[in-house]
Amino acid sequence: MNCTKYIFVTGGVVSSLGKGIVAASLAKLLQARGFSVAIQKLDPYINVDPDTLNPYEHGECFVTIDGAVTDLDLGHYERFLSINTTQANNITTGRIYQTVINNERRGEYLGKTVQVVPHITNEIKRHIRLLGATNEIVITEIGGTVGDIESLPYIEAVRQLRYELGAANSLIIHLTLVPYLGAAKELKSKPTQHSVKQLLENGIQPDILVLRTEHELSEEFRKKTALFCNVDANAVVQSIDVSSIYEVPIKMQQEKLDEVVLQKLQIEDAPPADLTNWTAFLDKYNHPQQKIKIGLVGKYIELHDAYKSILESLVQAGAYNECSVEVNFIQAEGITENNVAEKLRDLQGVLVAPGFGSRGVEGKIAAIKYVRENKIPFFGICLGMQVATIEFARNVLGYEQANSTEMDSNAPHKVVDIMENQKDVTNKGGTMRLGAYSCEITPRTLAHKVYKSTAISERHRHRYEFNNHYLSAYEAAGMAASGRNKESQLVEIMELTTHPFFIGTQFHPEYQSTVLHPHPLFVAFVKAAMEN
Ligand code: GLN
Repeated sequence: MNCTKYIFVTGGVVSSLGKGIVAASLAKLLQARGFSVAIQKLDPYINVDPDTLNPYEHGECFVTIDGAVTDLDLGHYERFLSINTTQANNITTGRIYQTVINNERRGEYLGKTVQVVPHITNEIKRHIRLLGATNEIVITEIGGTVGDIESLPYIEAVRQLRYELGAANSLIIHLTLVPYLGAAKELKSKPTQHSVKQLLENGIQPDILVLRTEHELSEEFRKKTALFCNVDANAVVQSIDVSSIYEVPIKMQQEKLDEVVLQKLQIEDAPPADLTNWTAFLDKYNHPQQKIKIGLVGKYIELHDAYKSILESLVQAGAYNECSVEVNFIQAEGITENNVAEKLRDLQGVLVAPGFGSRGVEGKIAAIKYVRENKIPFFGICLGMQVATIEFARNVLGYEQANSTEMDSNAPHKVVDIMENQKDVTNKGGTMRLGAYSCEITPRTLAHKVYKSTAISERHRHRYEFNNHYLSAYEAAGMAASGRNKESQLVEIMELTTHPFFIGTQFHPEYQSTVLHPHPLFVAFVKAAMEN
């Protein structure tokens, strides 16, 4: 291929259509045909990144190796493609404006009036082309829905790029919803027609339509939609509801989405997509030999998107172990010493989730005490690990009022304390300990058995850390720091030596688990739960 091809994915009619999954599935198919594919998400909101957003607003923040706090769709990209994304894969309006305004203050626009067109659109286009330098195909997902005021500069940038790149080097895929009217027993194409009209008003003719639907679309329906929307009949692709997001690449292959894309981009002689490993995963996922229940103790239990990567990591680890993992969400706030036995009944393992602030912390402590004493497999992530150390301090070491400085800045025993280099930080966004750090694992520990290595690298997102002042007391009582960062000596992994499986990590292993490479900690946790 002599020049990079650009694919834009837009959405219409409603949000939450699964644009990210369709984009990641297409990327998977193209990657499985041997192309180097990059995939990015452009988010139209004004936050510079989602770091300060409440999970209720936005779901999980996904953290990349270079420490970018990004949209959860990047998690899908990594899980589908087994690639590392970076800040370049997620740009927001806030970041675009920040750059343009900084340029303006430096006098870089040479006295010109700075405007949405061309300055903002140029900056958007620059970000899209950036990934083209090192990849054969760039897929750009435009967040939001066509017609939103805040999406307009992105749509305009796509219009301009399409003109600059030419039809053979760029492609627009528009994703819409086909509603089914139960009373009339009919699927409706009108919302799609209107949505395409909206795109046309903005100067964009989509090349391919992907239609989300709960029912099979007939040949006739596709032809009619094609006719009204000026697309080829074979470029109307159905995306039917499936039981697992990991089925979507298979569905898209059956619909020949990748074939149509290659044909329109005038790429010939590409080998067919080799999905052998992917289908082997699905086969295991669909034929579990065993079933377990894992309790996920957190505070956003009504909102599964808040724990997206953790849930997917459990699914992947389950499939790897040929085990179906049912996750029971348990509201941390509702747990007390009195009801904990009842709340955690029937669970083969308990995972205590990451989080911020004091809500639910005492419930998490009660849950951890119970699983520690009853030898139920436990996995604590970030705040989950911190809380495990607080529980141990209070109930084993006898420091009754031990706490984290985050929860009680006057606690007599701050076993989890603010990091030295965080003390003077006042800005909230993008200022935590972020991104990948190396970790040295102590030989002959559970962590070592799990990772089968003494040198690992994992991603972080937190402001507080285990207080090394107390480490010797912990180790003497059976809780060991089995992973530490060599330079800073920060404790990265804690484990209980007297328990079958009790481990907490200051980092977030869930960001590195993918379909084809499930994370060893999740695999080991599920296995321990299966044996429980
Ligand atoms: N609130 C804790 C901290 O900032 C833990 C963060 C997390 O769980 N990601 O250190």
